[in-house]
Amino acid sequence: MAELAYLQVSRVCNQKCLFCSNPANGRVISWAEAARWIDSFAKDRAAGVILTGGEPTMFPGLARLVAYAVKRRLAPRLITNGQKTAERGYLRRLARAGLRHMHISIYSCRAAVQGRLTGNPESLDNIRRSLVQACELGIRVDVNTVISKANAGHLRELVGWVTDLAPQVRHFVWNNLDPLMNEGSAANDLVPRLRDFEVELHKAMTWLASTGRSFRVERVPLCFMSEFPHRSTETRKLIKDEGRRIYFLDEKGLRVQDHNAWTYKKGARCAQCRLERLCAGLYQLGVYYSEAELCPVFTDPAEVARRVREDS
Ligand code: SF4
Repeated sequence: MAELAYLQVSRVCNQKCLFCSNPANGRVISWAEAARWIDSFAKDRAAGVILTGGEPTMFPGLARLVAYAVKRRLAPRLITNGQKTAERGYLRRLARAGLRHMHISIYSCRAAVQGRLTGNPESLDNIRRSLVQACELGIRVDVNTVISKANAGHLRELVGWVTDLAPQVRHFVWNNLDPLMNEGSAANDLVPRLRDFEVELHKAMTWLASTGRSFRVERVPLCFMSEFPHRSTETRKLIKDEGRRIYFLDEKGLRVQDHNAWTYKKGARCAQCRLERLCAGLYQLGVYYSEAELCPVFTDPAEVARRVREDS
């Protein structure tokens, strides 16, 4: 199956998130280079291109690049912090260029928390405007959330806030905070214990499932996914043997991640677990997380694999 390609177009940002995975380095891609990558992904028949950063709306030629990807029959998506897209004229230009799908990163529906995590007191207000306008313009919006100590206690509240405001939002993605990618050491205090978010994640997943919405969860072992192990990003990648290509706007350049990128360390307890073969294990086990947090599960792995394959 064709896979999505990721293209970083700007490593400049208008927020200062405490746990940025690709922090600002001042680089913005040139138009010629961006077009070359689009040509290359189109030639390789990628399923689409995800324009990302940093913050991709800081790339001045974004609308033109969206139009170029559409012309090359490569469905473009955006992963954005939802700040510049709050400007109606700007988002309309992207929609006219052919943008039909974007992911907005939201950490909290509590303005003070969102403001603290992003270094931007206006962050939530801008996201509110982006969500409403994107829905009015017919752009599909998915919501990406990094789980941290700061929002671990109100994940269910966040999905309710989003869907009250924009009922058209049908898909949520949670990523447990990656402690290795923190921009500042203060963010180490934000690394949650798995038990900190277990109940809230379960409530949020259960509610989304009851409304027919979909979701994915990354860097959370299957023993914390309750009845939704088939929604684990890593498990899905392992079962489908999927990888992805990412062009980083730094010294890494193009990286091709195969299924090995989706496996972490396991503990002695995992040997008793029926889902061991389908589970990625625990990211940063022995560093930020302890084996004592894990608990073998007895779910039928064949049933999990079946649900992944049935679930597009
Ligand atoms: S016990 Fe180990 S193998 Fe089983 S779900 Fe937890 S982390 Fe995965």
